[in-house]
Amino acid sequence: MHVYDSVVIGAGQAGLSASYHLGRLGVGHVVLDADPRPGGAWQHRWDSLTMQDVHGVADLPDGPAPGRTADRANRAVPAWFGRYEAEHDLPVRRPVRVRSVTGDGELLEVRSDAGTWLTRTLVNATGTWTRPFVPHYPGAETFRGEQFHTHDYPGPDHFRGRRVLVVGGGASAVQFLGELGPITDTLWVTRRAPVWRDGFDEDSGRDAIALVLERVTAGLPPASVVSVTGLALRPQEQEAARLGVYERRRPMFSRIEPDGVRWDGVTDPAGPAFEPVDIILWATGFRPAVTHLAPLHLRSEHGGIPLLPCGSDVQTAVTAARDPRVQLVGYGPSASTIGGNRAGRAAALAVRRHLTSEDLRPV
Ligand code: FAD
Repeated sequence: MHVYDSVVIGAGQAGLSASYHLGRLGVGHVVLDADPRPGGAWQHRWDSLTMQDVHGVADLPDGPAPGRTADRANRAVPAWFGRYEAEHDLPVRRPVRVRSVTGDGELLEVRSDAGTWLTRTLVNATGTWTRPFVPHYPGAETFRGEQFHTHDYPGPDHFRGRRVLVVGGGASAVQFLGELGPITDTLWVTRRAPVWRDGFDEDSGRDAIALVLERVTAGLPPASVVSVTGLALRPQEQEAARLGVYERRRPMFSRIEPDGVRWDGVTDPAGPAFEPVDIILWATGFRPAVTHLAPLHLRSEHGGIPLLPCGSDVQTAVTAARDPRVQLVGYGPSASTIGGNRAGRAAALAVRRHLTSEDLRPV
């Protein structure tokens, strides 16, 4: 069986960047992607999300991103990725869903529904989209209304005129409240009081990345970059803000009942400790999609995959501390489009370093 120098799993921003740089460095590789079409997670985002709504999509290396237009993000980004793959002749195979990676011997074995690949190194770029996270609350199964997660948000029209509970303190919750506030009766619950910031500059971005970087080098589960940057309202959220949507906030409830949610033992001046709701919208984030890496035992006792600080770029970390053949991109500090780009380059350099040191090893 052919042995690749590297296999990249995932063809989102991080995987495409890694493939581009591997190609430039002359590293023979293949990119395995589970989706039927180009676009990474962007092809699955909801229809009302336009390129003006996204927080900003970074350019790919040698591939400028689409502009901030009213085009749907789930069309514009996939079309751009598709063109990019073709123009740079990236070796993407799809649909290939990787089920497991093992690495007991010299080589890593990548098993999927569509076949098995042998490789000397691996770049994992599987993002988070396939692992939506919903926290457990007692009574969730008794709820008579509807429940959605960001992952399957059907767009604002579905919610019109209903009472909607939005759960979560991140950028997605803020965005949903902006869309839903003017057309529904919303209630917002968050675990911690939201931290608002006036704007987002390079310094605050760098500080946020540094915090997440610190977590992953210590082997802790990565926090989302936005959870450490704070939140900001954009022009499209101003109408909801005027309606007081962002002020009608409560702490997390204790349990879910058939017709709403209850706060046990809360003496709350804002109202009764029960709120009737028709729909619960969980904007509670995602977890890294890395279960296929479990046989490699990369995790630390703290639950995260520790990454080594990166020599080539101090703002990122990509190499798995427990198996330096494995690079993780789009993970932790690189879980953004700009981070995915930088990590792709750092991973390609780390792969080449690993392969070169292997070549030099005495036999
Ligand atoms: P993805 O785009 O998720 O791509 C992962 C790829 O891996 C997919 O193509 C998938 O098919 C494939 N894959 C997954 N599992 C397997 C498997 N087992 N086998 C084979 N293939 C597999 N970041 C920004 O910078 N700006 C924004 O405006 C922004 N908005 C966001 C909005 C939302 C709602 C969310 C959830 C995230 C947002 N982010 C944003 C974060 C950003 O989307 C990601 O960090 C970045 O796009 C992810 O790129 P990626 O390459 O890591 O993963």
